[in-house]
Amino acid sequence: MDLTSSDPGVELDQSLVRELRAAFAGELVAPKDADYQQRRRVWNGSINRHPGLIARCAGVADIAGALRLTTDAGLPLAVRGGGHSFPGQSVCDGGLVIDLSLMKDIQVDPEARTATAQAGVLLGELDQATQAFGLAVPAGIVTHTGLAGLTLGGGIGWLHRKYGLTVDQLLAATVVTASGEVVRASESENPDLFWGVRGAGGNFGIVTEFSFRLNPVGPIVLAGAVFWAMSDSPQVLRFYRDFIADAPDELMTIVIHRMAPALPFVPAELHGKPVVAVVCCYAGAVEDGERVLAPLRRFGRPLLDVCAPKPFVEHQAAFDASFPHGGWYYMRSCDVAELSDEVIDITVDHSMRIKSPLTAFPIWQMGGALARLPADATAFNGRSAGHTFNITAMTEGAEGFDEEREWVRGLWSALEPYHTGSVYVNFLMDEGEDRVRDAYGPARYDRLRVLKGKYDPDNRFRLNQNIAPA
Ligand SMILES: Cc1cc2nc3c(=O)[nH]c(=O)nc-3n(C[C@H](O)[C@H](O)[C@H](O)COP(=O)(O)OP(=O)(O)OC[C@H]3O[C@@H](n4cnc5c(N)ncnc54)[C@H](O)[C@@H]3O)c2cc1C
Repeated sequence: MDLTSSDPGVELDQSLVRELRAAFAGELVAPKDADYQQRRRVWNGSINRHPGLIARCAGVADIAGALRLTTDAGLPLAVRGGGHSFPGQSVCDGGLVIDLSLMKDIQVDPEARTATAQAGVLLGELDQATQAFGLAVPAGIVTHTGLAGLTLGGGIGWLHRKYGLTVDQLLAATVVTASGEVVRASESENPDLFWGVRGAGGNFGIVTEFSFRLNPVGPIVLAGAVFWAMSDSPQVLRFYRDFIADAPDELMTIVIHRMAPALPFVPAELHGKPVVAVVCCYAGAVEDGERVLAPLRRFGRPLLDVCAPKPFVEHQAAFDASFPHGGWYYMRSCDVAELSDEVIDITVDHSMRIKSPLTAFPIWQMGGALARLPADATAFNGRSAGHTFNITAMTEGAEGFDEEREWVRGLWSALEPYHTGSVYVNFLMDEGEDRVRDAYGPARYDRLRVLKGKYDPDNRFRLNQNIAPA
């Protein structure tokens, strides 16, 4: 796991590469190329793999050609959208990476309230395009995350309580299947595949384009964070539990335990001090948000309150600096029904033992619109979860990483009696088939296995949270 490794990577059979290059519109990056080191890297710096070739596709024809090459040559295959898979499932050793990051087209139709985005689009890029019209797709909380991987696992963020998951607003997807066929998935075209891509997407093919329904958001929202000393967290979390009990769907919150970061909005005397923060976004009228948030902002002795009316796109970028590219990350996740006294005490007790100044550990408020769809509406599981624990550790490099990883595992294990059983598939590491089954639940998993058998019987798409073909 050494990023300074000089391993040049395995060169592929040059005749195969020549054949692909002859009709390739994008860029092919081989180990000898100057930008290979940059292109092979993924967001999680602890992942250090050396593909034989990176095919930066310009369109569907490039994808189909690259896919054919890996099938003919029996090569390992990775598919990369934004490269933000926590376990690094978008890069392989040897083999070929189908990299979609050049595919950035976005079309917004403000009249019809729809948007179409190609698979290389990042969340911030889609928000910029849709917020120009005061519209948005509910998606994640860090702008440099890939739209593709996030959508294919479900997609939670500041708007899921108001408008549901990212996949709940998906109208259609275009998919290149294992056989090289290009198919549409929507309610009326291949509805079985449409059900599957909304939560288990990477298993059935390469999605080249997504069409979404858009909904009004902002563009000015009341958003920000209230910080307290971490030693106050037992009281803060008990208050928070009651505060969110009947919160409107417009309000979405994330609790963070961490050392206060040295960011411009944090006073210098707080830097490095253990804090608990409730980060909020009110996706409704600012005056309503002021009223709803007032009790939280008044509770106890806040160290800092940076909630204010601001552009939604600004709030969307609020976590960007806390999750930079190249840091070493480890994460375990679980869904928990409620913040009982026991859960709160375990959470605070372990949070007090965070060592790394870079570790930021989010607890997501769930519920709202996402919970009102029937449980089997899509392949996504976990609509009834109260909270998603996203126990994340970060260090700058190898130093201290093992220790922080043990901290993650310790907290996850201590919470085990309170796990609901479901876990968000996009918050899994490489944890084996049983955990993928947990992510979908047994009935949904069996249905997905049948679908996998239909669309990818040879398991060509296996570098993902893999579903074994039935
Ligand atoms: C900093 C950070 C913030 C995050 N915030 C959120 C959040 O707010 N909400 C949330 O729901 N999740 C969040 N996540 C989790 C995120 O949804 C997953 O990591 C997701 O897989 C990232 O997608 P990507 O395209 O960037 O990843 P990649 O690493 O490129 O891909 C992830 C997986 O999807 C597959 N894949 C990617 N593109 C395609 C495609 N076009 N067709 C088929 N398969 C494909 C890959 O093969 C791989 O298995 C976050 C992750 C990070 C690192």
